[in-house]
Amino acid sequence: MHIKELVLDNFKSFGRKTRIPFYEDFTVVTGPNGSGKSNIIDGVLFALGLARTRGIRAEKLTDLIYNPGHEDGASAPDTREAEVTVVLDNADATLDRTQVVNAAGTENVGDVDEITITRRVKETEDNYYSYYYLNERSVNLSDIQDLLAQAGVTPEGYNVVMQGDVTEIIQMTPYERRGIIDEIAGVAEFDAKKEAAFEE
Ligand code: ATP
Ligand code: MG
Repeated sequence: MHIKELVLDNFKSFGRKTRIPFYEDFTVVTGPNGSGKSNIIDGVLFALGLARTRGIRAEKLTDLIYNPGHEDGASAPDTREAEVTVVLDNADATLDRTQVVNAAGTENVGDVDEITITRRVKETEDNYYSYYYLNERSVNLSDIQDLLAQAGVTPEGYNVVMQGDVTEIIQMTPYERRGIIDEIAGVAEFDAKKEAAFEE
């Protein structure tokens, strides 16, 4: 499985709908400082619901909505919205087809070679809302998380190595470092589920 394409719409510095292709093995993004390279990674973390513990660089979700006056702090319109879609190539069935079919309500199992995960954040005058979609069908974050866990992609995981992560790992205590190994080995997921079950 790999990311095939990322579609950013009104997200951070991407005021216009922008499609970014990704290649199977290796994709490099280059550009001047402040041109939006890290915002692309933030887009992936946002859409896949991986941002809780790894940290998108924004104080609140609504800061992720494109703000034309970002630099000079100009005021924004009443309803604002941002959307990011991650298009996954699942031709190798890394993600279980039946589970995708069940979660997305797709009729044909053949339809799930390509999986789209979309997240939208919407801000109204006095509140904000966040929605997830799997192949355009509205789902919960937990549906997305259960699916991605099959590919070893979890919010606590180290699929995305952020700036400063390496230094952080070096400075950890052995016990904390063991936690990372549990994550990577896939043990932590079950520990968390066990704990959650005990709480219920
Ligand atoms: P560097 O090479 O320094 O790491 P970069 O290419 O990674 O730069 P980013 O951090 O992705 O750059 O982009 C930063 C830019 O995104 C800043 O100019 C900032 O103003 C802009 N930006 C962040 N949030 C928003 C927003 N909500 N609306 C508009 N622009 C935004
Ligand atoms: Mg950067």
